[in-house]
Amino acid sequence: MEKKLVLILNPAAGMKQGKRYLADLIMIFQEYGYECLTMLTRGRGDATQIAIRHGGDADLIVAVGGDGTFNEVVQGLVSAGHQCPVGYIPAGSTNDLGNSLGLNRNLAICAHEIMEGNVHGLDVGSFGGRCFSYIASFGLFTRASYTASQNLKNLLGHVAYVLEGMKDLLSVHAEHLRFEVEGETIEDNFIFGAVSNSTSVGGVLTLDQSLVSLDDGLFELLLIRMPKTIPELNQIIAALTLQKYDNPMMVFRSVSKVHVTGDPNMAWTLDGEYQPGCAETDIENLHRRVSVLLP
Ligand SMILES: [Mg+2]
Repeated sequence: MEKKLVLILNPAAGMKQGKRYLADLIMIFQEYGYECLTMLTRGRGDATQIAIRHGGDADLIVAVGGDGTFNEVVQGLVSAGHQCPVGYIPAGSTNDLGNSLGLNRNLAICAHEIMEGNVHGLDVGSFGGRCFSYIASFGLFTRASYTASQNLKNLLGHVAYVLEGMKDLLSVHAEHLRFEVEGETIEDNFIFGAVSNSTSVGGVLTLDQSLVSLDDGLFELLLIRMPKTIPELNQIIAALTLQKYDNPMMVFRSVSKVHVTGDPNMAWTLDGEYQPGCAETDIENLHRRVSVLLP
């Protein structure tokens, strides 16, 4: 009996290379004994629906696209309670998660490597019930990832995000939020915040590899307070430049659960996609909830 593989491909992602590699990918999967059902996504949410529909009887789901495509597949599997393992072949313009997972940027090589690889439990975030794979964030730099157009993203990749982020700096405003973390309350005006499981935060900030583990049941909470004086602003700039966050203008710690209270009109982004805010939100680490094939 052949094993059943559902290939979910976003033909619009990145430089549309997923489409160009499609026959090669199917060939590789067949060599490893899989019968492939190929589904192309046509819009937001399609990959989630496909994962819900097929995750129950597939032996493996492979997502080809950007981090958003992978995240949609994870959302489908988690919401439907499917345990089917996932392979991810990054083919987007920004592949923060793909990079964090150590996946090859060449699609055919990546396919070979995951076929030869092993299944690992990966932590997934729940933001009030909606899944994210590696980051939930607000404020500075985060609006960038969904305001930059798909064409601009394809053309410039990361540069598009940074350029959009610079625009944010000129119109920076703070959000008043309360974070309840393991019995402690942190309340202030913040210009940026992220709950992440990635060495690359918002495409601009980086966390040291030694601080980040994708399956430790913990997220990194990074908050930047609103500067009220020039020295405070300089402290933030120095912290960001040196990528050192032990500084009174910042909050940085590893957490498994955060309760957030704030302005319901404040937008968040989950893995670079727009997420409407709400007055109260629980952000939670679902420890090793998804099984991922890794090289
Ligand atoms: Mg972690």
